[in-house]
Amino acid sequence: MTAPALDLSLVIPTFNEEENLPLLWPELRQVLDATGLRYEIVFVDDGSQDRSAEIIREFHARDPRVRLLRLKANSGETAATDAGFKAARGRYVVTMDADLQNDPHDIPALLAHLDRWDAATGWRVRRHDPWTKRAASHIANRVRNALTQDEIRDSGCTFRAFRRECLRGLVLYRGFHRFIPTLLRMHGYRVIEVPVNHRPRRFGRSKYGVWKRAGSAFKDLLVVRWMRDRQLRYQVAEDVGGRLSEE
Ligand code: UDP
Ligand code: MG
Repeated sequence: MTAPALDLSLVIPTFNEEENLPLLWPELRQVLDATGLRYEIVFVDDGSQDRSAEIIREFHARDPRVRLLRLKANSGETAATDAGFKAARGRYVVTMDADLQNDPHDIPALLAHLDRWDAATGWRVRRHDPWTKRAASHIANRVRNALTQDEIRDSGCTFRAFRRECLRGLVLYRGFHRFIPTLLRMHGYRVIEVPVNHRPRRFGRSKYGVWKRAGSAFKDLLVVRWMRDRQLRYQVAEDVGGRLSEE
């Protein structure tokens, strides 16, 4: 017998989050069990040097709905997200951080939009990050929107829900996790922004410094802008003989 189809895959990039994981999983389980959905949680351990992988393995032993996808070495948040997308089996996919900054209680609200939208991306209306980071994000969002001619208020928010089929053709490069909503819109998918709660990081450290992030994100932005300019846009008007040659 084939396993019953899954409704939802949670993809959680995880790099050195040993203090957060034991709090995250019970909170997630409580929220997800209440939805009645059949789900799996794919923790993508991105080469953690702490006990993160061990902890996730223990979760799996107690509840097989938890999966551990462990990358050989630290490869970056986009790589971890990409690996999770490819491993996901659910009809819907939700991405979130492992550090408790995203609130699992927002998941049902994100999912509720997927009947009419292909993706729902979080917008942290009240951010709980140091002011330097908030200021940098504010500028980055404005520059990003101006250069990509998009309207995403909070492209740094990786708390998102997708219909899995729209991820299939997505080609990601390092740093591109910030541009997933823009890339999806470029492919013609419908993306909505949904206000989400945001909490301060209580344990562990942010993996990004403000200046380093600003530099590499700006380079990425120029690439995405280029991609947008050079996107192939055409419609086939006629295909004489095409059907015959397929048969
Ligand atoms: N992360 C990862 N690989 C990395 C850097 C970060 O998997 O190389 C994970 C990290 O564990 C967290 C998420 O990506 O779950 C976002 O990272 P972080 O919270 O440090 O970013 P911030 O909230 O400061 O933007
Ligand atoms: Mg964080």
